[in-house]
Amino acid sequence: MKVLLANPRGFCAGVNMAIECLEACVREFGPDIYVYHEIVHNRHVVDRFASQGVKFIDRIEEVPSGAILLYSAHGVSPAIRELARSRDLRSIDATCPLVTKVHIEAIKYAKAGYNIILIGHEGHDEVIGTMGEAPESITLVESPEDVDRLTFTPEQKLAYLTQTTLSVEEAGQVIRRLKERFPGIESPPKEDICYATTNRQHAVRQLIEKVDLLLVLGSQNSSNSRRLMEIGLAMGKRAYLIDGQHELQADWFDGINSVLVTAGASAPEVVVQECLDYLSEQFGATVEEVTTREEHVTFPLPKELRQMMKAGQI
Ligand code: SF4
Repeated sequence: MKVLLANPRGFCAGVNMAIECLEACVREFGPDIYVYHEIVHNRHVVDRFASQGVKFIDRIEEVPSGAILLYSAHGVSPAIRELARSRDLRSIDATCPLVTKVHIEAIKYAKAGYNIILIGHEGHDEVIGTMGEAPESITLVESPEDVDRLTFTPEQKLAYLTQTTLSVEEAGQVIRRLKERFPGIESPPKEDICYATTNRQHAVRQLIEKVDLLLVLGSQNSSNSRRLMEIGLAMGKRAYLIDGQHELQADWFDGINSVLVTAGASAPEVVVQECLDYLSEQFGATVEEVTTREEHVTFPLPKELRQMMKAGQI
């Protein structure tokens, strides 16, 4: 068996920053730390921190007054920040700067009187956070059919934004429909689907034709990981999204000579390596890593964490 190992894959700069942020807090404060939602959408990562005592919560009311609260990489709405302030929580914001960029765009367009069409998946943490910046001004769409149902007139001021982890292809279809219906619609100068999402999808598109099957390491609730699996399926290949080697089934590989392995932006490299070990041991797989794009993006730790460290609070 031949394995092509996609590069880039796995952790992006936003996930790296969020995880380093939580690690620094645990190291210095001890594990009595609260995180609003999952720090990143990955079972392995969340379980590792939970086993150290970190508490992942879905309601700010669960956090005791004065405790340390981290906002996850997906961002939060202003209402959540306000609630945390009112409970006197010491909040640290691990939102990815590329998500913050979308929040800032939403605020800017809303203040300028635009109706904002947000292309994204209903219920996703990032979408909830972005919509919370200007709930009166934002309408969510997921598909070209949703665009057909919009009732804005061409004269109204319209702008669109996108969730950072969408399929580039699918978002493109929705944007095309938006432009057909509303030719004057505006958008930010730099697109919102982030570099990491784009690059991981690009790698799968480049390499999938050479293999029989696609394995994506990532959790089921990880948006960007699901999109990678869907690209494989859409291109006529068998494709599986798995949290780790323990989910692999030997019969998936009956008659399979070549496999493409990649990982979503929140999946750690250790789970990739465990899969490669399994494929080598079970099927004598040889691994060739193929780089389709270089990545050199890094983000600093959140300002409030750096200030706490400087002040000797941690
Ligand atoms: S996937 Fe993109 S937007 Fe999300 S955390 Fe990573 S770099 Fe940021």
